[in-house]
Amino acid sequence: MASFPNAASGAIVRDIAATIVENSAYLSEIDGKIGDGDHGVNMSKGFRRAAERIDDGASLSGAMSILSDVLISEIGGSMGPLYGMLFAEMAEAIEDRGEIDAPAFAAMLRAGLEGVAAVGSAKVGDKTMMDALVPAVETCEASVNRGETLEDVLSATAAAAEAGRESTRDMVAKVGRASRLGERSRGVLDAGATSCAMIVRGLCEGSAARIGT
Ligand code: ADP
Ligand code: MG
Repeated sequence: MASFPNAASGAIVRDIAATIVENSAYLSEIDGKIGDGDHGVNMSKGFRRAAERIDDGASLSGAMSILSDVLISEIGGSMGPLYGMLFAEMAEAIEDRGEIDAPAFAAMLRAGLEGVAAVGSAKVGDKTMMDALVPAVETCEASVNRGETLEDVLSATAAAAEAGRESTRDMVAKVGRASRLGERSRGVLDAGATSCAMIVRGLCEGSAARIGT
């Protein structure tokens, strides 16, 4: 069964961080439409700090653990604890593994989702990061259960996160700051779903690039 190594794959997290930093202004602009416009600033601050602390030889689980620590202890806003838990639980799910195959990847994502669900109360349809994350995890598991190749599992997962992000455009926010706007929150993307789709895409593409290495 195809797999990629946990060891020395920490650069996946640094690449995700670079994407978040590059998209900082865009993420804040989206948040500014129905929130307070700080999402890109919060995200890039945390991801940039973490990237600086991830060594060249870091494992994927080690890098996710560093990122989690920074997000939980140094970054405010809604996303600090939410993304902090996502990465803490994903790191723990794979920390004892040398190789990550398709079932292990799906289990890692599921653990991350459960971590987020434990600290936030958002459900699919509430116009949050969960609208990207939940379909990504469910699609990943379905693809694994169909016996698809790791490469196909990863591309299906990333596409599902992006479709989930798009689905937030027509939603009314039910939790978080944007929920105060009620119907006026409809018609724009959710910032957290947008960053979450970027993270899932980065994780999937980085993993795919390391298959068989
Ligand atoms: P803040 O809302 O404190 O300004 P950010 O702007 O960094 O924090 O993050 C906003 C994003 O956080 C929203 O777009 C939404 O996706 C996400 N969010 C807010 N509350 C929750 C929650 N309870 N569960 C999941 N995601 C949430
Ligand atoms: Mg905000």
